[in-house]
This record gives sequence, structure tokens and C-alpha cells, in this order.
Amino acid sequence: MWCKQSAAIQERGPKASTTVVGAGPAGLVCAIVMARGGRRVIVREWRKSVGSRFHSDFQGLENWSDRRDILEEMRTVGIEVNFDCHPVYESTVFDAWGEAYSVRGERPLYYLVHRGNREGSLDRGLLKQAVGIGVDVRFGDRVTEINDPAVLAIGPRIADAVAAGYVFETDTADGSWATFNNALAPLGYAYLLIHQGRGTVASCMFTGFKLQAQYVERTVSFFREQVDLKMRNVRPFGGIANFRLPRTAVQGGHPVIGEQAGFQDALAGFGMRYSLRSGVLAARSHLEGDDYTQLWRRELLPLLRTGVSNRFIFNCIGERGWRWALRGLSRSDTVAKLQRLYQPSLLTRPIFPLAYWRYRTPLRDPSCNHVDCRCVWCRCGAHHSPLAGHNRHTNAAYG
Ligand SMILES: Cc1cc2nc3c(=O)[nH]c(=O)nc-3n(C[C@H](O)[C@H](O)[C@H](O)COP(=O)(O)OP(=O)(O)OC[C@H]3O[C@@H](n4cnc5c(N)ncnc54)[C@H](O)[C@@H]3O)c2cc1C
Repeated sequence: MWCKQSAAIQERGPKASTTVVGAGPAGLVCAIVMARGGRRVIVREWRKSVGSRFHSDFQGLENWSDRRDILEEMRTVGIEVNFDCHPVYESTVFDAWGEAYSVRGERPLYYLVHRGNREGSLDRGLLKQAVGIGVDVRFGDRVTEINDPAVLAIGPRIADAVAAGYVFETDTADGSWATFNNALAPLGYAYLLIHQGRGTVASCMFTGFKLQAQYVERTVSFFREQVDLKMRNVRPFGGIANFRLPRTAVQGGHPVIGEQAGFQDALAGFGMRYSLRSGVLAARSHLEGDDYTQLWRRELLPLLRTGVSNRFIFNCIGERGWRWALRGLSRSDTVAKLQRLYQPSLLTRPIFPLAYWRYRTPLRDPSCNHVDCRCVWCRCGAHHSPLAGHNRHTNAAYG
């Protein structure tokens, strides 16, 4: 199916336009790479601006799942760092008993960026690059059906994890803190990130969403106690994360990228790097006629499978196991250790079938093969658009 479409695209020639649905990091990176390759690209975005799912909260562009530095990886494919981006080499992580461990890397653990429509955000930076290279970005354009050659990049379908908390101003010194504690973030982690007078504190829960407000308040109290957190101009924020192992990342013949495909680390819910990568892969498939399915299976699937195994192990070992892992991670270069954790290994490979079976309900979309349907959002055989309901819910909950 996809090969047929690639052939059709080749026949239409390099000046034919390609539509990208969704102006998140996945869609914009895909658009930039295609435009640099000489293609005419139209990005259709539902909202009136980029990053409307986010609230100027800090996020981490992780730097541990690959030997390459993420910024170097981006530059290699022609993405500039024209957004606020600060390397974080060290973080303090607490176990469930409140003991602190310092984790650090010889290269940055992650790069701190902010998300949303504020000047300096990752989203605004990518938008500038896209527009600068001639991509036609159309806002307020909700896509429900598509027929032209397209790439689908409309973000999460459902919530496998929820992150909720506050963004604020502060005089507290810069830093990066996290804790693994079920009382604060069930099966997840709580975090506090402060940079130059602005901060984000949140609980990232992998279950127990109903008690979200309680976990957020406990998280704030915890960091007030541990790092003497002081907050001004506090604004609540939150959002959902969706990760799964897709049977296919092609829908209606169009490549599906980023979180819409479920491309995200199932262990920690870090999705930006996966979004950027899948955007590049889809662009390559459009430009060079490579088979997108082969590309993502080769470049992303091993990482995604390892993420599922890691999540299974994480859930099994509980708070004592997390403490043991933290001790290990804090003893030497954490980035190097995490890199090993994210490679398929003698432990994660054999565990995968069990992990996948255990998580297949949330990780698998059983309703549709996504190949011969034409709707943009597809979670059921009836093909009515659950998108509208889902996003209304998300926005009502998180403003
Ligand atoms: C609170 C929170 C904290 C996070 N922290 C981190 C972190 O620290 N590190 C990390 O790596 N990841 C983090 N993530 C995950 C990361 O933000 C996402 O994985 C990433 O933004 C996904 O990018 P995307 O382009 O696939 O989707 P999105 O960023 O969701 O973009 C999708 C776009 O499509 C648009 N759209 C939707 N439907 C339509 C339609 N029908 N027609 C047209 N346009 C449409 C949307 O408006 C949106 O602009 C976090 C997520 C949340 C919610």
C-alpha cells in the first residue's frame, strides 16, 4: 500500500505538494526536512497557534537513548537550535524514602526547553524555521479527512500517562529534581525544573489519574520541604501522553508520525526525540521513496520494544527496586548507563513478549488496521471521529 503511494508521489514530481496534518514537533520537523529537500509543503494545524497543548512548561529533550547527542542529530538533518535550550548535566533524584542521589553525565542528561507559544519555545523555533524555508503553515484548519499525499502528526489519541502540575515564577536557584515515589506519582515520577526565575513542578502518573489533584499537591509539598521551593504567579497545567507499539504507522496510505503513532518511550514518557525522528523518517520516505514502514521498524521499533520491556521491569520491581537502580545510576556516568538500558539486551529481549502481552490492552489499538481507512483519527471500526470528543475532553481538563 505504502509502496504504491510512494510511487505515486514520485510520479507527481518534486514540485507536487505534500500536506502535513498537525504543527507539533513531529509535523514541523517533517515539513522542514521535506521543504529543504525541495518539496512544496503545506502544514494544516487545528489550533490558532503552535504549542497550544502546552503551557510554557519546561520539558526535557532527552540525551540518553542514543550515542549521538540530540542537538547534533538535529543539526545533521538541518534543524537549527533557534529556541531556548539549556544543557542539564546533573539532577538530584529522591527515592521513596526521601534519600537524595545525584545523577550526572559527562555530556548533558537532557536539554531543557519550554513548550507552547511563547517566544523562545521549541514550538515557536520550529515554526520559524518552517516558515523561513517556505512551508505554508495554515492555522485554525482542522482536518477530518485527507486524500492528497500527506503525513499525519496530530498528537496523542488517549492517555497512557498524565502529567499535571504548575508553572510559576521563583527566586529559588536553578536546578533539576525528580522523585520516584508512588505516593506522589503512581508508577511514574514527580519533577521540579527551575531555570532563570521560571519553574515547572509536576506529577507524571502512569496510573491513578482520578486522584490527580491529590498527587499534584503532595508533589508540591514534597519539593517545598526538600528544596525550599517558593512559587509566585502560579498557573496550573497538564496534559496526556500516549505510547504504544503500533501494528502499523500508516493510515489510509499516509505515514503516521510522533505521538499519533504512539512513538514515545513507554518507560518515562519522553516523546519529543521520537517525534523528531519519525518526522525525519517520513520526510525521507516522501523525498526518496523509501518505504516508511521499513524505516520506522528499523530505526524506532527496537527502542520502542525496549521501552515496553523497561516499563514492565519498572512496574515489577517497585519502590525498593527503583532505589536500587538509582544507587547504581548515581555511581558513575548516568548517561552512559541509561544508554545501555535503552539498547535491546539479554534481559529486555526475552522479557519483551511477556511485557507486551501484559501491556497489550493499553499499548495496542485493536480496532482498526489503519491502512485502508481514510479518516484522520481512527480508533474504531465505525470510523466516526473520536478526535473531537477526545480533544474537547483534554482541553476542558487542562485549559
Ligand atoms: C505535560 C507534558 C510533559 C511532557 N514532557 C516531556 C518531556 O519532558 N520530554 C519529552 O521528550 N516529551 C515530553 N512530553 C511528550 C511530548 O511533549 C510529546 O511527545 C510531543 O509533543 C509529541 O509531538 P507531536 O508532534 O507528535 O504531537 P503534538 O505536539 O501533540 O502536536 C500535534 C498537533 O496536531 C494538531 N492537531 C490535532 N488534531 C488535528 C487535526 N484534526 N487537524 C489539524 N491539526 C490537528 C494539534 O493541535 C497539535 O498542534 C510531555 C508531554 C506532556 C503532555
